[in-house]
Amino acid sequence: MRNILFVISGPSGVGKGTMVERLSKGGELIFSVSCTTRAPREGEIDGVHYFFMNEEEFLRRARNGEFLEYDNHFGNYYGTLRSFIEEKLKEGSVILDLDVVGALSVKHAYPEAVLVMLLPPDKEALKQRLIHRHSETPHQIENRLARVDYELSLQDQFDYTVVNDVVEDAEKRLREIYLSEKNRAN
Ligand code: 5GP
Repeated sequence: MRNILFVISGPSGVGKGTMVERLSKGGELIFSVSCTTRAPREGEIDGVHYFFMNEEEFLRRARNGEFLEYDNHFGNYYGTLRSFIEEKLKEGSVILDLDVVGALSVKHAYPEAVLVMLLPPDKEALKQRLIHRHSETPHQIENRLARVDYELSLQDQFDYTVVNDVVEDAEKRLREIYLSEKNRAN
């Protein structure tokens, strides 16, 4: 069996965070902790959900080549630490929560990475989720929704798509994909 990079992606608000949390809870999949310059949301812990840092430190790390990929979404930087991924892959499979463009960058760097795009049942469901999590302003919600069509248009470049309608069903499907990829011969 091989250790894999299992990338969960999809538009903002589709439920990537919840899914990644559920999949990494048992400890079999190690969550890739990204760096970000955005402020922590209530309940988020530094070093667990993200490594929170200011823009100066983030850009210094970017200049040092520490990120496998990084991007600016909605005014904040987000980046995947190369060293974190390389270290953790020695221990087990690694699960990443990335935006759609970041996921494709990881595939470019690691062609053997397995990319899944989570899809909303429909766009209205996505809007309702963003509104109800109360972590974005109406302006930020509009910005996030404006990107959705573009993000969905890239789904053909993903290895799998999974509709996140009933959370348990989507989780089950993701586990099946993970196990079949992990057991696949190289
Ligand atoms: P949030 O602010 O809701 O935690 O995340 C915003 C977006 O950034 C989400 O789509 C999330 O998947 C994405 N994201 C989180 N970490 C990274 C990363 O390291 N690189 C990239 N490109 N996107 C990330």
